Amino acid sequence: MKYSALVVDDDPTMLRLLELYLSKNEINVLSTTNAQQALEYLNREIPDIIVSDILMPDMDGLEFRKTILKNDRLRLIPFIFITARGMLEERLEGYSLYVDDYITKPFEPREMLMRINAVLKRYSFYQDILKYDALTMTLNRRTSEDLLNKEFLRSKRYDVPLTIALLDIDHFKQCNDTYGHVFGDYVLVKVADVFLSQIRETDSVGRYGGEEFLVILPDTDIDYAFTVIERIRQQVECLQLEQFDYTVTVSAGIARCQSGLNHIRDLIHQADTALYKAKNTGRNKVEIAEYRAQTV
Ligand code: GH3
Ligand code: MG
Ligand code: MG
Repeated sequence: MKYSALVVDDDPTMLRLLELYLSKNEINVLSTTNAQQALEYLNREIPDIIVSDILMPDMDGLEFRKTILKNDRLRLIPFIFITARGMLEERLEGYSLYVDDYITKPFEPREMLMRINAVLKRYSFYQDILKYDALTMTLNRRTSEDLLNKEFLRSKRYDVPLTIALLDIDHFKQCNDTYGHVFGDYVLVKVADVFLSQIRETDSVGRYGGEEFLVILPDTDIDYAFTVIERIRQQVECLQLEQFDYTVTVSAGIARCQSGLNHIRDLIHQADTALYKAKNTGRNKVEIAEYRAQTV
């Protein structure tokens, strides 16, 4: 199932109908005939969307919506009314509670589904935006670290290799100072494009700092990682940049997950140390973290 929906309607027949349509559309449905119960459910879980009737005994849909809007944990969940209240004033009252859509009964099933899907899709676009760095469209730092955490645990648990690389643009401050920030931004985008085009689908690139990037290579040993990162280094050096006759280069440090490393901090620190070495021994090069001999 791709999405989850909480559906609230006091009419069990309507509830079953919605359940049927939504589940056919790969939406996992949790249904209840009572808004109070729906709120209890929301204490425990956050669905991808809430679909609610308005006319219900005890707490009605408008009250339900108002309660949700007052709750910081819940107010951003997509919300749709499906209701028999179809008069203009009634519809306006519904929209005044910032709902994502207002569908009146009786509805045409295919249109109802399309409208629910449109809301779900729009929200998943927003969530994507939050994952990426707006300039380079690589992952942002938080997403990149979350991903590294997952891969780190997987590598430890299943004893599969994991290699990372930190890449940093050389003398980038000088580039900005000489050619201006706008050109600097353009260089960042072009360099990030090389990173993105050179990695496999299972790898990822994140913007770790201003002009520093984290490449995560799951299931990859250090020799293969070196080949990938070295190819990236060469391609960056060959970049033709508009406007100026400027050669951009990157330095990189590579490290692999191994016993004795207990936190991604340790792994990143090793890659950073290798990067520092690359910087201090001439730049435009790739260095591998040093490892003490391991006892088997
Ligand atoms: P090194 O080779 O040692 O890495 O030198 P460097 O000049 O690249 O490193 P330093 O950390 O001294 O400077 C980094 C520069 O990157 C400074 C900062 O203005 C620039 N920078 C960081 N983020 C951005 C950005 O988003 N756009 C632009 N244009 N410049 C940025
Ligand atoms: Mg730099
Ligand atoms: Mg730097």
